[in-house]
Amino acid sequence: MKSNLSKKEIQIKILEFFKDIKNQTPKEVKKIKKLAMSKNISLGGLRKKFCKKCLTPYKSPKIRIKNKIKSVVCEECDYVARWKLKL
Ligand SMILES: [Zn+2]
Repeated sequence: MKSNLSKKEIQIKILEFFKDIKNQTPKEVKKIKKLAMSKNISLGGLRKKFCKKCLTPYKSPKIRIKNKIKSVVCEECDYVARWKLKL
């Protein structure tokens, strides 16, 4: 995905992409990640919207919360992502 877009334009593009994340494919997620990386844009909390392992966007993953740790199970590959909950 080569482009001459400015960093600002790419940030907007990324936000637009994540608005519709549930209809995206792992392939598209990979592209947007690459694009963000190429401009040193941090995805921050947006990374929690897809599986870290297979890059499939979460649709209705199993979520468990235990000891202030939130676990999200990927529907595609069963990878369990864990995040510390902020108090
Ligand atoms: Zn997965």
